[in-house]
Amino acid sequence: MPLNSCELEIDLFCKGMRISPDTSLDGVRGISRTRAGLGSGLEAAIPVESGLKREIWVNVPVVEPFAARSPYELVAEGTSAYVIRDDRSGHEYRVRLPEEPAWYRRETANDVPMNRVGVLQGTYLAIYANPICAFWNYSPRLNCRFCTTGQNVGANEVPVKAVSDVIETCWAAKEESGITFVHLNGGFQGSRGLDFIAPYVRAIKEEVGLLVGVQLAPERDLSRYDRLVELGVDHLAFCVELMDADWFARVCPGKARVHGQALYFTAMQHAAGLLPPGAVSGEVIAGIEPEEQTIAAIDRITELGAFPTVCIFRPTVGSDMEGWPPPEYKAMRRVMMHVYEACRAHWLPVGAAPNIEVSLVVNPDDAALLAPRTAGFYCYEAYRRLIRLAAKPIFSRRMRPARAR
Ligand code: SF4
Repeated sequence: MPLNSCELEIDLFCKGMRISPDTSLDGVRGISRTRAGLGSGLEAAIPVESGLKREIWVNVPVVEPFAARSPYELVAEGTSAYVIRDDRSGHEYRVRLPEEPAWYRRETANDVPMNRVGVLQGTYLAIYANPICAFWNYSPRLNCRFCTTGQNVGANEVPVKAVSDVIETCWAAKEESGITFVHLNGGFQGSRGLDFIAPYVRAIKEEVGLLVGVQLAPERDLSRYDRLVELGVDHLAFCVELMDADWFARVCPGKARVHGQALYFTAMQHAAGLLPPGAVSGEVIAGIEPEEQTIAAIDRITELGAFPTVCIFRPTVGSDMEGWPPPEYKAMRRVMMHVYEACRAHWLPVGAAPNIEVSLVVNPDDAALLAPRTAGFYCYEAYRRLIRLAAKPIFSRRMRPARAR
């Protein structure tokens, strides 16, 4: 049996893909090693056969050593059509490789290449806005062991982005690539991270009119989140990464020593009380700690009213964990199925915002393709459709520049 689109997405995250020697990637979106480095793969969109959504976006690992052993191979058919061939079964899956946007090759008024300010990851614009995450400056380093931010910020992207450069890049991505959402992150910045990011949020909301997400290390002064919400932030994300305390301390030594795991959940809960349902997320990495711990993290996040974004562990080249094996497909399928079930159990309106497809994770609504077709499934899907319709005018208002309103 061929895999469905979400199963293929999961298996590609776990096994990576080879690229046939005759296949040209001219004109497609290039590999962008920015931020934590998880976008190190090739962006692809897998068509979805059922009516649940149109496409599933996936950033397929291609440069990590495990990808060279993958049964999957990308093959070009003609000049712009591609299939992924599974050598084990002979099945072929049609995929679309998105074109590289023209603005990637343009510069801002400050002569900064726009693709060193932000890049597309799926259908949204990703910008590492703050200075390099401070965990990289400790001696010995306290960075998360899967992360390569310390190698990418300042090398593959400019170290600190001027607000005006961010605004120009957002405009280009909005007008030419049709983005609706920009995601700002910046790792750990002491107690100044949220203050540092505030002018970017204000300027984007006022001048460009996009949905804005912020993902930074949690801060103890929770009133700072209130201020960010007043500025118009639409989404807040908290990267707790791992549930088991020992794994958390081992893989995320800075987070464990400086914040403690509990602060991630406290801040998540506070943010979930400030924003509408479905606007706060808890981020987890699956495939490092035992599966039951990942499932416990998903349960904890959804109980707090946030939705889980679960990233399948990628042993990124250059990271401290580059020699670790990638996770097994079956375990990851179970985890993603649980993501969907937990969202359903809490009636979280996932996938309500327009045109936000994240290529680095299995989106909770991607995982709808894994769920058995029960009465509960159809009720939840009908509810999600209703929320999507009802939320349309709200989102279109929030995507108008505040100045124009
Ligand atoms: S907090 Fe961890 S994952 Fe985030 S940028 Fe810093 S080292 Fe990387």
